[in-house]
Amino acid sequence: MKTEQQIIRNAGFKITVPRLLVLEALRVCEKQGEHLSAEALFRRILADGGHLSLAAVYRILAQFEAAGLVTRHQFFTDSNRAVYQLANSSKHHHHMVCADTGDILEFNHNALEKMENEIAAAHGFEIINSQVVFHVRKIGTR
Ligand SMILES: [Zn+2]
Repeated sequence: MKTEQQIIRNAGFKITVPRLLVLEALRVCEKQGEHLSAEALFRRILADGGHLSLAAVYRILAQFEAAGLVTRHQFFTDSNRAVYQLANSSKHHHHMVCADTGDILEFNHNALEKMENEIAAAHGFEIINSQVVFHVRKIGTR
């Protein structure tokens, strides 16, 4: 597994403490299957004793996203609720988002992958990457 320093350097950035803090926090999220907003990442870093500003978190996430290190998901119409996760490192997956609780679930299904490939091929394309989002509600809650 690459170190945080290597990842930051390979992406073409100078190593700074704020960048290390954001990357570390994203790695913890990945392990736990979490998708956090910039603010939630910020609060977690502070709670863990890190020092940086919310503006720095936003700036670094934008840099990481531009470098392909991070994927930004806009699951909710409220733009403040974009969530982030590390790109590439985790296995390809799709998301279910609960309309009531905001919970985000990762899933994958072979039949879905197969169908995606078939649909793309029918139009003369092959899939490079895909993101399917299910907006869901727990059965029986309404
Ligand atoms: Zn995910």
